[in-house]
Amino acid sequence: MDRVDCIVVGAGVVGLAVARRLALAGRDVIIVEAADDIGTGTSSRNSEVIHAGIYYAAGSLMARLCVAGKRALYAYCEDHGVPHRRCGKLIVATSADDNDKLGAIRARAAANGVDDLALLDTAAAQALEPALNCTAALLSPSTGIIDSHAYMLALRGDAEADGAMIAFNAPLQRAEVTADGLTVEIGGEAPMTLACRLLVNAAGLGAPAVAHAIDGMPRAHIPTGYLAKGNYVSCNTRAPFSRLIYPVPEPGGLGVHLTLDMGGQAKFGPDVEWVSSLDYEVDPARVARFYPAIRRYWPSLPDGALSPGYAGIRPKIVPPDIAVQDFVIQGPRDHGVGGLINLFGIESPGLTASLAIADHVAELA
Ligand SMILES: Cc1cc2nc3c(=O)[nH]c(=O)nc-3n(C[C@H](O)[C@H](O)[C@H](O)COP(=O)(O)OP(=O)(O)OC[C@H]3O[C@@H](n4cnc5c(N)ncnc54)[C@H](O)[C@@H]3O)c2cc1C
Repeated sequence: MDRVDCIVVGAGVVGLAVARRLALAGRDVIIVEAADDIGTGTSSRNSEVIHAGIYYAAGSLMARLCVAGKRALYAYCEDHGVPHRRCGKLIVATSADDNDKLGAIRARAAANGVDDLALLDTAAAQALEPALNCTAALLSPSTGIIDSHAYMLALRGDAEADGAMIAFNAPLQRAEVTADGLTVEIGGEAPMTLACRLLVNAAGLGAPAVAHAIDGMPRAHIPTGYLAKGNYVSCNTRAPFSRLIYPVPEPGGLGVHLTLDMGGQAKFGPDVEWVSSLDYEVDPARVARFYPAIRRYWPSLPDGALSPGYAGIRPKIVPPDIAVQDFVIQGPRDHGVGGLINLFGIESPGLTASLAIADHVAELA
């Protein structure tokens, strides 16, 4: 049986960032990826926003890793020429009720170390974005957008330059805990069995299934996975905004927000639809529901401007009636299995946090 130092399961943005980090530290790394390319899962089905770190509970992994990850990501993009833009975002209140919530959002952000939010009245917000309807707004200057595929290509390039290898069409099928690590059975086109000292389960939506496939992993530490689909709609007209526009958050998601891609094209979403299978089709019947939500902050959105876009699926580890979850990153001290790190529930802001998640995993390893 061949022996390797580290196996990372999954070549999404998190698996790639972890593999890069371990390879930079001098470890031998193989990434095993079930699909035939990098980033075909949630990492290519998101909003591509560099989040500031505003909404998460103080002290949570999401808060800490988002804020640290944001700083690291901007620096990485600048160093590696990854297209990105620190465009800023407005969190807009459109009712007296919403106005009352802005103070709490600002306080929570400050508790997370995000102390650059500015409270704007209607006139100040409209001076920035004349087409905006709002009763007040918070400006987040450190929010931005990124070309996530270019970012993943850069991570892959770094990892490979430091000796990491990627096996595509190589799903982890089974693993077993041994005295000095794990043995891992890889299926697909070129089945193989490998022994490793460190296994990092960064399989995204597949992470609970991968953990269940490990003989010796205590079942009590494996969360149940739930799927919360987020549907996007495309905007067929030029949206008159240069910043991202978010409503005040709603339970389960951040509300139907406007984000821009690097070409300036606007999209709206994601909404929240709990599903039982990985179905990425966007039901055209959902589009009609976006108009009233968007017109609260963009009243002149023309009829017929929206069409079905794409969808991503949040890897939830809490059921629909529990609004808040944190990242769960388990090392040997948590589950008792030496040489195994599991990453569960890496939903938003996982893209923003990816470099900080990688540092955290490297510390656990
Ligand atoms: C709708 C939506 C919007 C989001 N918007 C943002 C945003 O704007 N900003 C932000 O910071 N974050 C955002 N996120 C979160 C971000 O996209 C994710 O946190 C991140 O992409 C997770 O990356 P990952 O590598 O963990 O998972 P994935 O990208 O899903 O990668 C996991 C990989 O593991 C592979 N795999 C699974 N099982 C196996 C197996 N048995 N063997 C081998 N390989 C396997 C899969 O094929 C896949 O390639 C959003 C998420 C969603 C759903």
